[in-house]
Amino acid sequence: MSTQQITHPTIVDGWFREISDTMWPGQAMTLKVDKVLHHEKSKYQDVLVFKSTDYGNVLVLDNVIQATERDEFSYQEMISHLALNSHPNPKKVLVIGGGDGGVLREIVKHESIEEAWLCDIDEAVINVSKKYLPEMSASYSHPKVKTYIGDGFQFLRDYQNTFDVIITDSSDPEGPAESLFQEDYFKLLNSALTEKGVITTQAESMWIHLPIIKELKNVCNNVFPVAEYAYTTIPTYPTGQIGFMVCSKDKNAKVKKPLREVTDEEESKLYRYYNKRIHEASFVLPTWVQKELGN
Ligand code: SAM
Repeated sequence: MSTQQITHPTIVDGWFREISDTMWPGQAMTLKVDKVLHHEKSKYQDVLVFKSTDYGNVLVLDNVIQATERDEFSYQEMISHLALNSHPNPKKVLVIGGGDGGVLREIVKHESIEEAWLCDIDEAVINVSKKYLPEMSASYSHPKVKTYIGDGFQFLRDYQNTFDVIITDSSDPEGPAESLFQEDYFKLLNSALTEKGVITTQAESMWIHLPIIKELKNVCNNVFPVAEYAYTTIPTYPTGQIGFMVCSKDKNAKVKKPLREVTDEEESKLYRYYNKRIHEASFVLPTWVQKELGN
């Protein structure tokens, strides 16, 4: 079948529509489709890749945008470097989820890294990313990278005191990532970390998910002595904003300020969104959010 013939229920009149009555009622991101590149029902989720007219190739899982080539760097850089630069010397790092490979690309930018592991539940995501998202998935062939296919929750049970940083780059809590938002998962993360270990996890939009963020922050505070919410801007996630919980096992850790820095010149070579000023700024919350989260 030629790719022109692939249709998908989310694409109507040449526009992809990200409609969810439960996760973002009454609003929807739309992107103009140039061409559908791939569609399959994997064992875990509906996997769609299309070429958009203005945002490059787009990965969609269960009808929800995961990454577009145009703006992915904002999310991938922030979820990675907020955690990595809050650790004194990260050597062994784990990504849970993150099948597109973008977070791996960011991790291996740090010279201290000796091993970067990734555990994604769905090999189909890794395969389509290698084919259609080459800039994100290039690091799969990096010598420091090891890839595992499996459920992140189950995977973590086998590791204690092993990783300096763990980054949970999951999809939304509806679907296969549901368990990755629960307290038991954060307990597993805590025990898989080394002594001064740091985690970040995808933590939704303050505009539409404040109750979820509040609950997540409480869960993190129950497990970690330090747990802070930061956020980034990104046009193709619902409301144009997405947050992260950044937590440390070290009660004296000051995650709001980078512990390790490079020069401005090096920064501008390495990163397109992240810099040391935006690290600090990303933890500064609007008044109504600050009141809710009790920072
Ligand atoms: N940045 C994206 C966002 O917030 O929309 C997330 C992108 S990433 C591609 C999400 C990945 O999490 C997917 O590849 C999915 O297969 C993976 N995933 C979902 N549930 C998982 C689980 N329980 N264990 C491991 N990986 C999981």
